[in-house]
Amino acid sequence: MNILLIEDDAVLADGLIHTLSNSGYRVTGAISGNYAEHLLQAQDFDVIILDLGLPDIDGLVLLRQLRSQKLALPILILTARDNINDRVEGIMQGADDYMTKPFELRELEVRLQALIRRCYGGFNHNIEMGRLLLDTQTHQIKADGELLTLSAREAELLEFLLLQSGKLVCKDRIAQRLSSDGEALADNAIEVYIHRLRKRIEPYGVIIRTVRGLGYLLENKNYE
Ligand code: CA
Repeated sequence: MNILLIEDDAVLADGLIHTLSNSGYRVTGAISGNYAEHLLQAQDFDVIILDLGLPDIDGLVLLRQLRSQKLALPILILTARDNINDRVEGIMQGADDYMTKPFELRELEVRLQALIRRCYGGFNHNIEMGRLLLDTQTHQIKADGELLTLSAREAELLEFLLLQSGKLVCKDRIAQRLSSDGEALADNAIEVYIHRLRKRIEPYGVIIRTVRGLGYLLENKNYE
């Protein structure tokens, strides 16, 4: 799960990044609305945590802009404003949840998990394909009930493909997803990871189909 944290309070942002990273999330911080918009164009995220009091733009205005650009990601608002109007306005502008500062990190994490479950997994935390099972809460991938041992990059790639099951995923999105320090992964490196992953998951009835010039598609082997 890739989280974009839009928060200008460095101490709070560091704490959140630390806690959420320890729980297996990948968190990218943005200290302004402008930078957040730049990141959203360049990278792929699954969830946004949005502070309303940003230095360059009101969080509610940013939220409205993002929704008007048809950005469908779940958004959790974080704010020191606790008046009911802001809360109602936030939800009206398309936020999915709302937390008032100060808050307990543990509560934020639980709310985040619930949000991810609502948006990506229905009431079930698991995504299944073939004999593979992804637990979207723990990020563990099991094959025939046993933990599948993969490198960090392979695991991230497989989780991403499973989350997009049945949808075509273009190479650019994979490159951004597996980027390190903002450097997108090279095409041939992606091919290497896809090749390795194929060999690991085929025995469990899951294939990665190459759609030439477009990208990859994770499918049940039976549907071939
Ligand atoms: Ca702020």
